[in-house]
Amino acid sequence: MSDFDVIIVGGGIAGASLGAEIAGKRRTLIIEAEDHCGYHATGRSAAFYLESYGGPEVAKLTAASGPFLTCPPVEFSERGFLRRRGDLHITRDILPELPPGVETRVVEREELERLVPGIRPQWRRALFEPGCADIDVAALHLAYLRAFRRSGGLVSTRARLVLADRTADGWRLQVEDGSALRAPIIVNAAGAWADRVAKACSVVPIGIEPKRRTMVQLRVGHSGLRDLPLVDDADGTFYFKGEDDNTIWLSPHDEIATEPCDAAPEEIDVAMAIDRFESVVDWPVERVERSWAGLRSFAPDRLPVYGFAADAAGFFWCVGQGGFGIQTSPAAAKLSAALLLGEEPDSMIRQIDPAVFLPNRLRI
Ligand SMILES: Cc1cc2nc3c(=O)[nH]c(=O)nc-3n(C[C@H](O)[C@H](O)[C@H](O)COP(=O)(O)OP(=O)(O)OC[C@H]3O[C@@H](n4cnc5c(N)ncnc54)[C@H](O)[C@@H]3O)c2cc1C
Repeated sequence: MSDFDVIIVGGGIAGASLGAEIAGKRRTLIIEAEDHCGYHATGRSAAFYLESYGGPEVAKLTAASGPFLTCPPVEFSERGFLRRRGDLHITRDILPELPPGVETRVVEREELERLVPGIRPQWRRALFEPGCADIDVAALHLAYLRAFRRSGGLVSTRARLVLADRTADGWRLQVEDGSALRAPIIVNAAGAWADRVAKACSVVPIGIEPKRRTMVQLRVGHSGLRDLPLVDDADGTFYFKGEDDNTIWLSPHDEIATEPCDAAPEEIDVAMAIDRFESVVDWPVERVERSWAGLRSFAPDRLPVYGFAADAAGFFWCVGQGGFGIQTSPAAAKLSAALLLGEEPDSMIRQIDPAVFLPNRLRI
């Protein structure tokens, strides 16, 4: 039986970033069911940083993470993870309301035509959010795993938690390969599987719902798209951004409730994405280069959940990161680490009220 202070279940961005924050202070192990960390939601994102996304409380986490993502400490990474492209929230009619403090300006039709040549006439105006950026997700996730290991953290892949019992001296965990582990604290960072992990630990689930989202890489008969702003509609029915000179990443903004699984795109959602795209610009669609899907997982109030369970000593929730788990990861990891270690919050998150994210708000 191996002993640790903390065992984190899940090696996506949530588990890796929290692990990096605590590994220097607690003997920490990440157990990851797949053969590499980042196989699920973390490896499938649309990879953008958008401050207005997810409502005012999530926006605070995103804004707090921005400086770290732009200019991380040199020992963490020698270069930043963001590349600015801006976001055009286009509308036929009424401009969207964004959370307070997000920098924006109104773009009228004439400028819109310059920024998105070939945009169809019904799109009359837009709100431009200049701070929107691409995130180098793979580099960020790797940097967190590297920092975790450098501080003494261990990662065990192909190690699915199947059962855990609470004993007088902590948790005894059983892994699928038959091995047993022991630690006083379990962190549930299992993404779409969060409620299943809770059940395996005899902890009351909090109603985390995985929802499938589809992404399509499209080649189009229009060039000069690499630096195209992210384009989304105020009603939330699509978004696309330039990927290469004449390719884009496109999503129909779908949100299909599903069981936790290795998500794959459905033809109907790919077709819907293309249909919506064609209602925005007149660029000929040449071919689907690839498509993929991933699960975004939400708590009932769509806010993330960070903190110890009220009903099970030593069980820490780090779940419900929805569609913002990458862009919020630096602040979320600092907040979770402060809660887990019982320490003062880092200056990055001093303005953020942790009570908003505690699991007891969901009345467990
Ligand atoms: C299509 C799409 C677009 C997105 N776009 C963006 C974006 O532009 N910006 C942004 O910030 N976010 C975006 N997101 C959201 C972001 O990807 C997620 O919020 C984030 O990756 C969640 O990280 P995680 O570590 O919680 O989950 P995951 O990456 O899914 O990691 C959870 C891990 O737990 C493991 N696990 C599960 N059960 C067990 C078990 N029993 N034992 C051991 N391991 C287990 C899984 O194998 C998995 O690797 C997007 C998501 C999708 C799907």
